[in-house]
Amino acid sequence: MNFKREFFSMFICVDFDGTIVDHAYPQIGKPVPYAIEWLQRFNNHGADIILFTMRSDIKKQGLLLTEAVNYLQNNNVVLYGVNENKSQSSWTKSPKAFGDFYIDDSAVGCPLIHPKGFIRPCVDWKKVGKYIESASR
Ligand SMILES: [Mg+2]
Repeated sequence: MNFKREFFSMFICVDFDGTIVDHAYPQIGKPVPYAIEWLQRFNNHGADIILFTMRSDIKKQGLLLTEAVNYLQNNNVVLYGVNENKSQSSWTKSPKAFGDFYIDDSAVGCPLIHPKGFIRPCVDWKKVGKYIESASR
């Protein structure tokens, strides 16, 4: 059986804090090594990236979600969606955004690294990026 998926029809849901930047919530932490590079690479392969984060725009705290979206835009990462996959409305009413892959530092089994100066461990993109690429064609 072949579980390989086509990059151009692939949805990749990506967490923000601890995955794309170090945990400094509500601030934007240091860039996680190779996160942006891999997201741009997925973009170039035609994959659809969905930001999948607990951040939201809160009156008292500020536009925390918007800041994350802007961070990705400023780093030339194109988002297909933010906490939602518009394409799934025809086959489900589930509020969970559909993804072929979910990249999240809190996910069980997600490879982590702890770069010097980082507050908490973060996603090991060298492993995660290669894994997704190897599961694609
Ligand atoms: Mg996280």
